[in-house]
Amino acid sequence: MKIRISSSTTFDSIVDGPGLRMVIWTQGCIHNCKDCHNPQTHDICGGHEVEIDNIISNIKKLKLQRGITLSGGEPFLQPEALEVIAKEAKINNLDVWSYTGFTFEQLLDSRNPNRFKNLNLLKHIDVLVDGKFELDKKDFNLKFRGSSNQRVIDVVKSLKYKKVMLVEEYMQDNLFEAR
Ligand code: SF4
Repeated sequence: MKIRISSSTTFDSIVDGPGLRMVIWTQGCIHNCKDCHNPQTHDICGGHEVEIDNIISNIKKLKLQRGITLSGGEPFLQPEALEVIAKEAKINNLDVWSYTGFTFEQLLDSRNPNRFKNLNLLKHIDVLVDGKFELDKKDFNLKFRGSSNQRVIDVVKSLKYKKVMLVEEYMQDNLFEAR
C-alpha cells in the first residue's frame, strides 16, 4: 500500500504535539484555508508516493521520539494508509496525534461516505487537532494549534463517550484569552 506525501518525514519536531515527534506530511488538501502555511500540500496529485512499509520501518527505528504526528495537507484524505501507520505506531508504544481541517463531527457524520474509514483511523489516534485554520482567529499564544476555533481533542475519550472531549491542558494555554 502507498501513501502520497508532500515532503520528507520530519523526525525531530517539537511543535506538532508534545515531546519529540516524527511528523508525516501528507499531500492533498481540499480546505483552502486563507493564509495556509503549507499551500504546496494542496494538490492531490502533487508530492510523491511512498510505500507505507518504508514509513513503518522508520517508526520501528525510533528511539527518542514520544510519538508521531499526522499532518499535511489533509490526513483524512488517506485514512486507510494512515490507519496502518498509526496502528504500527501504537504497537511501538508511540502516541499518535493528527491534524485535520475537518471537524471531529464532520469526520463521523452519518452522511459522510468515509465515516467508517475515518473511524478506523481515529481508533488509533490519541489526540486530534480539528477544524480549518481561520485567519481572523489566528493566535500565536495557542499551543499546537493555529487559530482559536481549532480544538485539541482527546479521541479515546470522545469515542468512548460519543461526544467531543477536549484535552484541557492544551486548550487553556492561551494566556490572553484566559484573562
Ligand atoms: S487544512 Fe491545513 S493544509 Fe489544508 S488549507 Fe487548511 S491550513 Fe492548509
